[in-house]
Amino acid sequence: MAAVTATSNTTTTTARAVGAGSPTADLAPLQIERRALGASDVRIDIKFCGICHSDIHFARGEWGEIPYPAVPGHEIAGVVAAVGSDVTGFAVGDRVGVGCMVNSCRECENCQAGNEQYCIAGNTQTYGSVDRDGTFTYGGYSDHVVVDQDFVLRIPDEIPLEEAAPLLCAGITTYSPLRHWNAGPGKQVAVVGLGGLGHMAVKFAHALGAEVTVLSQSLRKQEDGLRLGADHYYATSDDATFTALAHRFDLIINTVSAVIDMGAMLSLVKTDGALVNVGAPSEPLPVPVFPLLMQRRTFAGSGIGSIRETQEMLEFCAEHGIAADIEVISADQVNEAWERVLASDVRYRFVIDNSTLTA
Ligand SMILES: [Zn+2]
Ligand SMILES: [Zn+2]
Repeated sequence: MAAVTATSNTTTTTARAVGAGSPTADLAPLQIERRALGASDVRIDIKFCGICHSDIHFARGEWGEIPYPAVPGHEIAGVVAAVGSDVTGFAVGDRVGVGCMVNSCRECENCQAGNEQYCIAGNTQTYGSVDRDGTFTYGGYSDHVVVDQDFVLRIPDEIPLEEAAPLLCAGITTYSPLRHWNAGPGKQVAVVGLGGLGHMAVKFAHALGAEVTVLSQSLRKQEDGLRLGADHYYATSDDATFTALAHRFDLIINTVSAVIDMGAMLSLVKTDGALVNVGAPSEPLPVPVFPLLMQRRTFAGSGIGSIRETQEMLEFCAEHGIAADIEVISADQVNEAWERVLASDVRYRFVIDNSTLTA
């Protein structure tokens, strides 16, 4: 049995991974170095990693130039393999997760207030950031990762690791705005788009007690939407939807990462209601101002959630029997999975079985 004692060492470790060698290359097996286990670090054997649309934008350089190779993945679920000498909250064998960030400045007003996701200096992203040791961060499409204990989440026993992985991005990204804008009993909540983010938003909004409507391009996934917890399901391709639902919603969560008609969406929001964007289109989104000022509507955005709130979300999932609907794939199926993500052909999240990494 592995000793549950503090470990520290000064050597880097080599990780098996899959990554992209250029903006246009397919993902392929490769090896990366992980930093030596620091005193406050946790080394995690990654068991599963979810595939997020952001992974694709990032690796293809669509959100700005990046150094290569690029190893994405910020929906990490695994087991603690080693802990540094100052680690108090985690022991070898614990079930843990890592989401979109692995550090922050810890000094700005947002970090001090426990909103490190909005660190004014910019949080250190799980992939695509410069880490505190000056190296570029690599994500969870790999067999292990070294992360500061303050950015490691505890995964409750009730949630299978593979179904927990997508909670670390898709889960918290939708849970946080639902909580911030008070989704709950007596509230009308709409979710635009029923994909990886949308299916989690429906589950959470329903569990929080709101009346939930899905607004999807077509009625193709209607049966699923109702099964996931929606009370109503409408097609945005049908103009009658916008007449029927005018001024209906206290809160709309827009999960679509493409340019859609914001004027039409805003017309569905009640006076003083909010339309909150969590999808991230590469192109600017045109927003007409009249529908905002005529009804004092809010047009907003929300990004992931704090570590404290992410832990709260995981506990909420355990309590309410919530997890992601997933399709587990092997590492050699990642390129195919990305094409299917781009075609919205997944119900509702691909998760890589990291034991299949071969590099
Ligand atoms: Zn993500
Ligand atoms: Zn900060």
